[in-house]
Amino acid sequence: MNKTIPLSVPYLSLDILKNLEETIRTGWVSTGGRFIQEFEMKVADYTGVKRALSCQSGTAGLHLALRALGVGYEDEVIVPTLTFIAAVNPVTYTGAEPVFMDCDDTLNMDLDKLETFLKEECRHVKGRVINKRTNRTVKAVIVVHVFGNPLDFDRLMAIRNTYNVKIIEDATEALGSFNLSGRYANRHCGTIGDVGVYSFNANKIITTGGGGMIISHNQQLLEYAEFLSHQAKADPLYYTHDEIGYNYRMTNIQAAFGTDQIDRLEGFIETKIINYKLYEQALQGIEGLTLLPFREDARANHWFYSLYIEKEKYGMDARELLRKLNDHNIQSRPLWGLIHKQKPYVKHQQFCIEKANSFEGALINIPCSSSLTAEDIEIVTEVLTPQTKSHFMVPPLLARLR
Ligand SMILES: *Cc1c(COP(=O)(O)O)cnc(C)c1O
Repeated sequence: MNKTIPLSVPYLSLDILKNLEETIRTGWVSTGGRFIQEFEMKVADYTGVKRALSCQSGTAGLHLALRALGVGYEDEVIVPTLTFIAAVNPVTYTGAEPVFMDCDDTLNMDLDKLETFLKEECRHVKGRVINKRTNRTVKAVIVVHVFGNPLDFDRLMAIRNTYNVKIIEDATEALGSFNLSGRYANRHCGTIGDVGVYSFNANKIITTGGGGMIISHNQQLLEYAEFLSHQAKADPLYYTHDEIGYNYRMTNIQAAFGTDQIDRLEGFIETKIINYKLYEQALQGIEGLTLLPFREDARANHWFYSLYIEKEKYGMDARELLRKLNDHNIQSRPLWGLIHKQKPYVKHQQFCIEKANSFEGALINIPCSSSLTAEDIEIVTEVLTPQTKSHFMVPPLLARLR
């Protein structure tokens, strides 16, 4: 039996041990210490922003971002249905309501439908966007760069500026991705909208075990998010509080991983791009199996690879293929269940969801770790390649010699 090939595992170096030793020797193991500042500065430098604010997770970062933009009860936030549910839950933490939007062929939010919704389903009164059906204010849109593929910023920002909604970039999957053309060329995903969020969970492109980062060009917004993340302490000595805050800070231990991991990020991306190309070569020509492309006018980080399966042509559906891969110890997983169909969200408003339904049950993710080798890819692609008649007709001796 083959060794297990995992879907996505972190690439960690023992070099981190000396950072961890320092946290133990100095006693700085909690939410203060030099690694936190160092990691924040490295992420800010890498992504080209003035400042980045670390926090406990990507989910916490999204919650802080929404609070810092003033999203709360009586508000609505437009969200994608095709993504991980952590992109949407923070909306409900604030008391606001999500409105679910469809995706396009790239799996990212369908910006045509977003614009149609804002134009036709909303009233525009004194700079406010009001959902005609609910009379609530649409304050923000959360977009996700799904699997690290950047969405079209020129289009997105034009919509933002026309309709006066705030943009939260869930860039938890897209650290290191940027567009190569257009007005926002060479600017990193996460740094273009009103506020962006990264994640350093163990399955993301770099990891701190668990962790997140908020970036914004609006320094006041970041300061307010920081204040909320420290239990909203108005006076740090006398502990006075005028608002409800959270315990959302990153620890020095997490950051001790981060300062090492961020230095390796470009190397991880390089490997992921090479591995994607190997898959692409090996899988081309297999009928009914499409390796979803990343945008060509972007440098995508190639975080996750997706296969689209057409049963009629391939002879097997996604569920059967998943079983086959897992039987060969190749960890793969189906696309997330669409969020507008999940129990807590079935009653929420959704707008013309069609495309996302067609991806559900037809898409799987295949191994993509930064430590994946060419040999691993050969094993995976062999299992993905259907055994046609001609294979069986190869004489046994010849087959053994190959
Ligand atoms: C991973 C992820 C998150 C949450 O990040 P955590 O650090 O795990 O809390 C949010 N949104 C998307 C799209 C993600 O993939």
